[in-house]
Amino acid sequence: MEDLIIIGAGPAGLTAGLYAARSRLRVVLLERLAPGGQIVTTDWVENYPGFPEGISGFELVDRMKRQTEKFGLVIENQQVERVELTPEKKIVVTDKGTLESQAVILACGATPQKLSIDGEKHMTGKGVSYCATCDGPFYRDKEVAVIGGGDTALEEAIFLTRFASKVYLIHRREKLRAIKLLQDRAAEEEKIKFILDTIPTRIAGETGVEGLDLKNIKTGEMKHLSVEGVFVFVGYSPNSELVKGLVALDEDGFVITNGNMETSVPGVFAAGDIRSKLLRQVSTAVGEGATAAFAAEKYLESLK
Ligand code: NAP
Repeated sequence: MEDLIIIGAGPAGLTAGLYAARSRLRVVLLERLAPGGQIVTTDWVENYPGFPEGISGFELVDRMKRQTEKFGLVIENQQVERVELTPEKKIVVTDKGTLESQAVILACGATPQKLSIDGEKHMTGKGVSYCATCDGPFYRDKEVAVIGGGDTALEEAIFLTRFASKVYLIHRREKLRAIKLLQDRAAEEEKIKFILDTIPTRIAGETGVEGLDLKNIKTGEMKHLSVEGVFVFVGYSPNSELVKGLVALDEDGFVITNGNMETSVPGVFAAGDIRSKLLRQVSTAVGEGATAAFAAEKYLESLK
């Protein structure tokens, strides 16, 4: 039996793993994909303290991973399929077997939200994307649309100007949600054209995206916009399906914890984007990962 199982190897899980391994707990970190989480697909991180020139998301995660290796953290490539979380025992069933532990940290992160409009599912991977770093280079000298008005949408729209000939930023309100600095940067980019008070209603195309049907929500006016790529950045939904009905979730499905990252079940902690909270950043995720590991250690001591 393990002391601690951490589910998810993004910045929160890696930091929890680093602290737990350094404290000599019997700990295993389970990840279904490669370690890193969403930050791996972020081109440039410029607000993580300690890197005044900024650092690529890929490199930041690589450094975190190497740091965990120094303390012997075991990272297993296993997809968790089911969990049983009782105060007495935690059972984690994966595609490779069953593990047991006394404590669990949920660091499963979040997944990009879909628009849920006609054509979106069909065209995903054929012109509809949720990752500008991954797919931006395919749109050299082409016109693309970005949907959303938050920090991610603006940051990614600015990134896409490196490749695309034009980037239409389509937002459902007149006022953008993103921080002022990003709004100013986007406004300075000649290639970015804002289309406000507007939602997409359909993505057109068969083998590749041909355009978008747009609706102005103030006037009701419909129009068609010809683009070859559609990048969707309309927020994130939590990867909490695994623990639905087992730990308390908020109305949007994010895991509720107290300040010590304790969930509603003793011995179960949560950290990072899966948590119900105000700010989802690498800097908040790592702090929560450290707190969750420390709280888990205290919990394990209390069982002795
Ligand atoms: P977000 O802040 O939740 O913004 C989502 C955007 O999508 C909003 O503008 C929202 O419109 C719009 N939207 C939501 N559902 C929609 C729909 N069905 N159709 C059309 N538009 C829709 O998400 P985010 O930008 O991904 O940011 C998530 C978190 O990460 C935030 O805390 C953000 O600050 C942080 N972040 C930080 C950085 C950074 O610091 N460099 C970079 C990226 C993200 P409304 O505004 O009308 O709600």
